[in-house]
Amino acid sequence: MAKDHEFGFETLCLHAGALPDPATASRVTPIYQTSSYVFDSADHAASLFNLQTFGNIYTRISNPTTAVFEERMAALENGRAGLAVSSGMAASTIALLTLLEQGDHIVAARTLYGGTHSLLDFNFKRFGIEATLVDADDPAAYAAAIRPNTKVVYAETIGNPVINVLDIAGVADVAHDAGVPLMIDNTFPTPYLCRPFDWGADIVIHSATKFLGGHGTTIGGVIVESGKFPWDNGKFPGMTEPSAGYHGVRFYETFGDFGYSMRARLEQLRVLGSALSPFNSFLLLQGIETLPVRMDRHCANALAVAQYLVDHPLVEWVRYPGLAGDPYYALAQKYVPKGASGILSFGIRGGQAAGARFIESVQFLSHLANVGDAKTLVIHPASTTHRQMSEEQQIAAGVAPDMVRLSVGLETLDDILWDLDQALHQSQR
Ligand SMILES: *Cc1c(COP(=O)(O)O)cnc(C)c1O
Repeated sequence: MAKDHEFGFETLCLHAGALPDPATASRVTPIYQTSSYVFDSADHAASLFNLQTFGNIYTRISNPTTAVFEERMAALENGRAGLAVSSGMAASTIALLTLLEQGDHIVAARTLYGGTHSLLDFNFKRFGIEATLVDADDPAAYAAAIRPNTKVVYAETIGNPVINVLDIAGVADVAHDAGVPLMIDNTFPTPYLCRPFDWGADIVIHSATKFLGGHGTTIGGVIVESGKFPWDNGKFPGMTEPSAGYHGVRFYETFGDFGYSMRARLEQLRVLGSALSPFNSFLLLQGIETLPVRMDRHCANALAVAQYLVDHPLVEWVRYPGLAGDPYYALAQKYVPKGASGILSFGIRGGQAAGARFIESVQFLSHLANVGDAKTLVIHPASTTHRQMSEEQQIAAGVAPDMVRLSVGLETLDDILWDLDQALHQSQR
């Protein structure tokens, strides 16, 4: 795109990374549904494998449709480069494994998406990578947990399921004082509401499954790097020394401000294999085209629902960072000023039993375990995702027995309020 003009976010959502298809002039980015690519010659093949020529070899490593999704996400996050993978969990796993060796240490927020919590607390532990989980709200708690072998600080912009807003700048300072990158899961806000790189983060990951895709059709993930982290500070020999995992390449020296992404692609994705399908890249690109208008409506509907529930006689409490009086309101005004995304939680009078009856009584709201769909979604964690825990364990995980989580969709606001109200009344029977 033009070099002498800075395009707005909405324009980037529609155009970044894409030109009309050079082969066919197709306006829409085609689905390059191919596993592999024909080499011009033996020399061409060799130079591709040696990374002397950029080009496609095999869709597990790169694909033209997926490349547009990667470039678009890098542009939207105001980052240097992106790497698409098959899910949000593949994104956090690959993003972290790119930097971690046996014996290394992670400092992370205690309030994390359940899968990420398991990754840090179970899977990595088995391979000698330890994590210390700290009070997400207190930058001093992250600082106190740093060790000489800490290689990354990890947190979510808006935590799932607690819906807490991170002081990104405060935690970025802690990470940089320790010479390590801050990695942020930016799934809930999307780059339309918050760009963590603007606040000092170094690597961003997404579950593209949620608002980016936006229609509940596609599992996908993406990693974006800012291009600003100084990998030659002595703590990351895997970035500066010849790679035993790929042809002796020195990733930082060879690729500079996109060396981390290249290392993630060639040492991790190439071998672990969790590539995004070209069809899913196409669906995610379709979703991103309308991201700004959808996010504005998700935010407006969520705020209106939160305000309605605050005044509802059958509702004990409401948590939405966009609501004046919420404990995270001030942080939300700073980090997500356009809106606090589409997810809120509330407590229903009558506790766990009423929560379960409420869920059974909704008419068109969907009872399922996802967020960020165009349709309104609802779940009662205590009787579903956190069912196997004791009440004390649920409370420690931020899941009160009476808590209902809503991902507010794009339906007519009055219809959402109508369904909530009738189900709240049914819940008391
Ligand atoms: C859903 C989610 C993930 C995991 O993403 P998948 O695409 O389901 O693998 C990670 N982080 C957050 C905040 C999520 O909501």
